[in-house]
Amino acid sequence: MKLYDTPPIAGIYGRVSDNRKGKSASVPQQLSAGETVSQDEGWNLTYRLEGDDGRAASRFSTDKREDWDRLIELTTNAEVQIWILWECSRGSRRPVEWLTFLDLCRENEIVIYVISHERSYDPRIPRDWKILANEGIDAAYEVEMTSKRVGRDKADRAISGIPDGAWPQGYERIYDPKTKALLEQRPSAYAPVIKEIFDQIEQLIPLSRIEEDFATRGILSESGARFRRTSILQTARNPVYMGKRFYKGVMYDGQWEPIIPPAQWYTVNKILDDPKRKTTRPGRRRHLLTYWMTCGVCGETVQRLDRSKRQQRPTYACPPRCVASNQEWVDDYVRDLILEWVGQPEQYRKLTTPKAEGVILAVEGELEALKAEMDQYYALAKQRRLSPVGLAEMEEVYLPQIEAAKERLQDLTTPPPLRALVQPGRELRECWDDMDVPQRHAIVTWLFKGMSLLPSEHKGKHTSFDWRRLKYEWAH
Ligand SMILES: [Zn+2]
Repeated sequence: MKLYDTPPIAGIYGRVSDNRKGKSASVPQQLSAGETVSQDEGWNLTYRLEGDDGRAASRFSTDKREDWDRLIELTTNAEVQIWILWECSRGSRRPVEWLTFLDLCRENEIVIYVISHERSYDPRIPRDWKILANEGIDAAYEVEMTSKRVGRDKADRAISGIPDGAWPQGYERIYDPKTKALLEQRPSAYAPVIKEIFDQIEQLIPLSRIEEDFATRGILSESGARFRRTSILQTARNPVYMGKRFYKGVMYDGQWEPIIPPAQWYTVNKILDDPKRKTTRPGRRRHLLTYWMTCGVCGETVQRLDRSKRQQRPTYACPPRCVASNQEWVDDYVRDLILEWVGQPEQYRKLTTPKAEGVILAVEGELEALKAEMDQYYALAKQRRLSPVGLAEMEEVYLPQIEAAKERLQDLTTPPPLRALVQPGRELRECWDDMDVPQRHAIVTWLFKGMSLLPSEHKGKHTSFDWRRLKYEWAH
């Protein structure tokens, strides 16, 4: 459990259950369980949100959306440090919303305590994140299974690729004027904005900066609202844009034209899945190597010292000051190492040659087939025709293969950190100079396993950087 200096601010999100026999608890019961946990743990329970499960006019809440929106708002503003949920299915039943919520918690370092599990999860820990993500998807799956009529209908629509559910921005739906039947879903004039969101995330531009950029340029959501980080995130998470639809943990092909190529969609979602993404936010990183490059003597990471009496220029130094060196010299040297590596003719060709679309489609097809097979075992387990042990065994067989296929899909495209650097027809140096520090740092961490600075062997004034002081290990 995370340690806090003062009692952390906690919030509980209670939600009425519908059709799960034996496991349901009323909202007051959930809230009181939350109170007990907070007392036991010494948390300051400040927010009590009472969601509702689609029953209009509930006595607990007038509008179920209000409380979910409030939950997202408090999470976005990091006004709580711990969210208490009865069980994961009391979060959102929509995977896109649930994953967005998890992303926000991770970014804002918010811990999630699940009462039914009697434990906390830290979404920044990949294993915890995975458990929560899976639980959310299982919950969604269960809803589909239990509401059979609706479920069957939805399943039919999903499998046959008919657009369903909320209308996604960037698409327009064409209806038959007489029968009102849906004829087609096709990209609208707004589609380029959607494309830009994916392009920017792929360039490792932080969501907060995309939000700012859109606000500055007056780009609104298609419904005319300000484009906030949460909706940017939801957009990027939605497979509708690669012409697919997510249903019961499986992707189905949609009968509509994609706005984003699948390989780009997967790349962007992998970037969003990366817990390290947080470190590349602007404002947090203003220098290329601070808190990453280590001191070759004490092993601590270096900091950046501004001009001081002794140091005439900005300097990298470890806290005990065993090492110190002119920041500009080190940065320039590291830049030259990178440009030299990328600029090797063979390397450069490899990075700039587009891979055959067919190969990408083949790997993507394989990935989806594996996921579909795994999903069949989940379905059997739900029907109690496969034991939990049997299911675990199938997971052992399939999950590593699914991971491997995902990674292969990544390898077929230029590594995201390098995309801003390797632009056909432009000089590497020019691209580098145009990049910002977080983008450059992303290249450094992708290309090097580690880097350390050794003390200078000569006392007195230096006129240039002694390259022998820099030790590094390539990652590729
Ligand atoms: Zn040191």
